[in-house]
Amino acid sequence: MVTIGFLAFISLAIIIWIMAYPWRIALHRRQVMSNPFPKPWRHILKAQVPYFFLLPTDLQLRLKKLIFLFVHDKQFIGCNDLEINDEIRVTIAAQACLLLLNKEKETDYYGKLDTILVYPEAFIVDNEQVDDFGVAHRHSHVLSGESWEQGKVILSWANVLKDAAAPGQAGNVVFHEFAHQLDQLSGKANGAPRLGSSKKYRQWSEVMKREFAQLNHAVESQQPSLIDAYGATNPAEFFAVCTEVFFEQAHQLKAQHPQLFQCLRRYYRLDPSEWLPQPKPVSH
Ligand SMILES: [Zn+2]
Repeated sequence: MVTIGFLAFISLAIIIWIMAYPWRIALHRRQVMSNPFPKPWRHILKAQVPYFFLLPTDLQLRLKKLIFLFVHDKQFIGCNDLEINDEIRVTIAAQACLLLLNKEKETDYYGKLDTILVYPEAFIVDNEQVDDFGVAHRHSHVLSGESWEQGKVILSWANVLKDAAAPGQAGNVVFHEFAHQLDQLSGKANGAPRLGSSKKYRQWSEVMKREFAQLNHAVESQQPSLIDAYGATNPAEFFAVCTEVFFEQAHQLKAQHPQLFQCLRRYYRLDPSEWLPQPKPVSH
C-alpha cells in the first residue's frame, strides 16, 4: 500500500529533479565541451572557414568548444538529397557560434533551436497572402536562408560555402539567420534581442530606431549605404543585416555608424575590428 510519506518523498524528488535542470544542463555542457577538438574538424576549418584564423587564440579555443557543443546538441537534416557530413556541420556551427563567443548563458546556446535543414542550393519558398478583398495570392521566393520561431534554421549549403570563403566581404547567410534566432529567443523577432535591463532596451531602441529611419531614407532616396537595403524591410531584418555588417565590415561600421557599432559591440561583447584587417582604401 502506498503511504502518504512515500508520495511526499516522490513529489519532493520530482521537484528537486526539475529545479536542478539548469545545473544538469550546465554539467552536460561542461562534459561535452571538455572533449578534445577532432583533428579532421580543424582541417575543415582551415579549408572552409578562414574567419576562424583571424580570431585571437583565446577566442579560437572558445569557439572550438562551442562548435563541439553545437554539433553534439543540434540535429542537421539534408534536404533534396544532400547528405549531411562533418564538413557541413562544422562549417555551419563555426559561423553560428561566432555570435555566441562572449555571450553568457542567457542566450542558452540557441536554446530554442533544435534542427538545421540544409539544401544543396538556394531554395524556393511559397507564401500565401490574402488581400483586402479576401483574394489569396501565392508568391514564390528564392532564399539562401530562413529562420523559424519553432526551432528551425534553413540554409543553402552553396551560399554558406560562398559566404564563409570570403571573410570581411559584405553578407553572410549564417550570421544573418542566427541573429534572427537570438532575436527570437525573446519571443517574436522584432529587432530587439534579450538585453537584460529596461535601461539597455531604452538605449538600444533609441539608436536602432534612428539608424533604421536613416536606412529607409537612404533606400527611398537611392543613396548608397554600407547597410544593405534589405535591412529596411523591418526592424528584425535590420538587426540581422546589421549583425552581418558588424562581423564582416566592423571598421566601416565603426567609422560610418559609431553608435550602432557600439550598441552591437555591447550586445555581442565582442569587437570584430580588433581582428578584421583594415579595408583597402578605395581609389577613384
Ligand atoms: Zn532575415
